[in-house]
Order: sequence, then structure tokens, then C-alpha cells
Amino acid sequence: MAAKKVLELKPNPRTGRYRLISGNWKMNLNHLEAIQLVQKLYFGLRDVDYGFAEISIHPPATSLRPIQLLIESDRMHFSLGAQNCYFAPSGAYTGEVSAQMLSKLNVKYVIVGHSERRRIFGETDEVVALKTKAILAEQMTPILCVGETAEEREAGETDDVLMRQVRLAVADLSAEVVATIVVAYEPIWAIGTGLVATPEDATSGAQLIREELARLYGGDVAERVRIQYGGSVTPVTAHDLLEADGVDGLLVGGASLDAEAFSRIIRA
Ligand code: PEP
Repeated sequence: MAAKKVLELKPNPRTGRYRLISGNWKMNLNHLEAIQLVQKLYFGLRDVDYGFAEISIHPPATSLRPIQLLIESDRMHFSLGAQNCYFAPSGAYTGEVSAQMLSKLNVKYVIVGHSERRRIFGETDEVVALKTKAILAEQMTPILCVGETAEEREAGETDDVLMRQVRLAVADLSAEVVATIVVAYEPIWAIGTGLVATPEDATSGAQLIREELARLYGGDVAERVRIQYGGSVTPVTAHDLLEADGVDGLLVGGASLDAEAFSRIIRA
């Protein structure tokens, strides 16, 4: 086994929060291609690149086990993430994977409520809340995705949508637990479309989310929650989005499938 290097992850001096950059591979790459991509990413990063943000990788479920073994055997400084889970621990739910099963694979972060799951698979805010709870019960961290559609934005409903999605997802949780979650502000009009929100858009979304959390759980809790921006992030836009006020990291889809692009985002 390779000797473990001690690489120090530093919090953002402005906020005290640790940044998180996550790669959501969606339904792409078989497990052999997935191993190659992680290796390519690993060899393309220098020690110093791990100091700025924690990096989580979210492959499809079929690649979780091989990537877990790769990360652990080579002591790579990547956190393993999943894209989804079901809320029941086990049972007659054909095709589903439970939070318990993910935690056995040392999964640390689980994306929940991604807009593709809400839109294509009909996930409601109630289902998102149940999944969030199941993930937390297994000592994993949910990355709760919230965001408005283009129509909602044009109708001036962004605030209502974000506040509702946040409020319902964390409805039954204690303040202590809420402080540990990650929220990804993902304007739906920017996901996979090439349309990137401006840093000002990212800040205003993050601010709305934090204000709603502060209203529900108090300012201290809201200040501890990490908020990512997601939506067509590229190496060119990453720096300004990461520097945007209130933004603690990025959720990256398409660009995370390219080792060179994703490592440039990490270095941004
Ligand atoms: C996503 O899948 O969460 C995402 C932000 O995708 P993309 O970066 O491709 O827009």
C-alpha cells in the first residue's frame, strides 16, 4: 500500500467553512472507464491541489465498489459520493439501493433531490426529505439539490421555490443535524445547458438558502451549512463562482467527466 501523505485541507479564511467540489458523473462510464478516469484525475493533481477543497466523486452505482477499492488502496484524497439512494433500509424495492448499502461502501456524500431525479423520476419534496433523513441516519452527508426552472425564474418565483425545497427537505431534522448538510444551488436552466449563472446569481441563490435556514434554525446553523453552486461549470467559470460570496464549492456535471477539465476546476 502507498504511504499516506498528510495533505492539509484548509478552510476558507473568509467563512471558516471547508469547500467541497463534487463531480456528478450521472449515468456515464462503465466501471472500467470509471477506474481510468479516477486514475487520470489523481495523476493530474499535485499535493497542493488538495488543500483548497475536498473533492468528492459521484460515479454510477455500478462503479462505487471498484472506485472505493481504488481510493482506499492507493490512499487517494478523494471522497466517495453516490448520486441517489432509496429511503427504506431494505425490502421489496426492485432496482433501488439503500443508504445503508452505500454507507457500507464508505460513501461519504450522497446527492439527493437532483433536478433530473425530480423531473424525470417524479421525486417530490416529501421523498427528498425521506431520503435526506435516511442518508443522515447512516452518518453520511446529503448534498441537497435545489433550484428553479427557467419558467419559475421568469415568473419571479425563484425565492419561493428555493425556500420551499429547503424547508421541506429538512423539515424533521434537528438544528445540529441540519448544520452538517451540504446544499447545492442548481438553477435548472443552467444544468447541462451551457448557460452558466453569474457569480451574482450564485450569491443570491446561496443567500436565499442561508436566509431560509437561518429563519428555521437560527443564524449559527445557517452559517455552518455549506452551499455549492452547480450548473454548466467549466474551468473558465469556476474561479469566479468559487469566489462568489456565500458559495462554498461546486457541483460539476459534464466537466467532471474530463480529467483535465475537472482538475483545472479544482485548481481554479
Ligand atoms: C449537475 O449534474 O448537477 C450539473 C451541474 O451538471 P452540468 O455541470 O453538466 O450542468
